[in-house]
Amino acid sequence: MYRERGIGGSKTEVGLVDRKRINDALDKHLERSSPSTSRAINKDVSSQSRLMGKQPPDRKDLLSKNNSSDEESETDSEDSEVSGSDGEDTSWISWFCNLRGNEFFCEVDDDYIQDDFNLCGLSSQVPYYDYALDLILDVESSHGDMFTEEQHELVESAAEMLYGLIHARYILTGKGMVAMLDKYKNCDFGRCPRVYCCGQPCLPVGQSDIPRSSTVKICCPRCEDVYYPRSKYQGNIDGAYFGTTFPHVFLMTYGHLKPQKPTQSYVPRVFGFKIHKP
Ligand SMILES: [Zn+2]
Repeated sequence: MYRERGIGGSKTEVGLVDRKRINDALDKHLERSSPSTSRAINKDVSSQSRLMGKQPPDRKDLLSKNNSSDEESETDSEDSEVSGSDGEDTSWISWFCNLRGNEFFCEVDDDYIQDDFNLCGLSSQVPYYDYALDLILDVESSHGDMFTEEQHELVESAAEMLYGLIHARYILTGKGMVAMLDKYKNCDFGRCPRVYCCGQPCLPVGQSDIPRSSTVKICCPRCEDVYYPRSKYQGNIDGAYFGTTFPHVFLMTYGHLKPQKPTQSYVPRVFGFKIHKP
């Protein structure tokens, strides 16, 4: 396998550096068509070039900031170190879900990914689809040795996108919903920043189902509004990897978790008096 998981002490640092390199490589690649790739792949890539090439501006900002700060950003109070064992025992999926910023993702069942029916339509959306799928499922590819470093990076990036799009579908299934319920109970998606929501746990939501349109937000079941995630790492994840539907189907499925609407709201006052509305 191209990428050595868990080299050095922290996988998260490696992940961030990789992600920047991958995205840079993808941008570069999409500006010109590579003659070394097959026609089918070229066609796929060019059809995706507008989507893949366009990144939310905040993502790029973050990445360049990361780079200039010597790839170390230990001052972030929200940093969560990755736990678990390093090495080849880790599946790609667990490794990916444990990267810093990827805390919102649950682990999609291998069985779900192996069922072609569930992946219907994704092969035309994701470049290097077959290679990306092999990578996600830890299938050793015989083509692996033929790839240039740049092609490896493209496949890595495609795998991230493919996993995200599969994830958006998976979390609407029974099993996926249970996996997300665990994370919700664990407050993995953060809490509503609104004072009168009293620390209500939130759910992830996308503002679009089309990849590269907007980053993921958190949705509060109590005030039914959406907010930016607290962590800048989480704030760089594509919203389409969670989709526009998830939190609402989740709360319909687990109706008992739907909290009462907030009874209090903030009233602006001047010297204790309510402000007269003209
Ligand atoms: Zn709220």
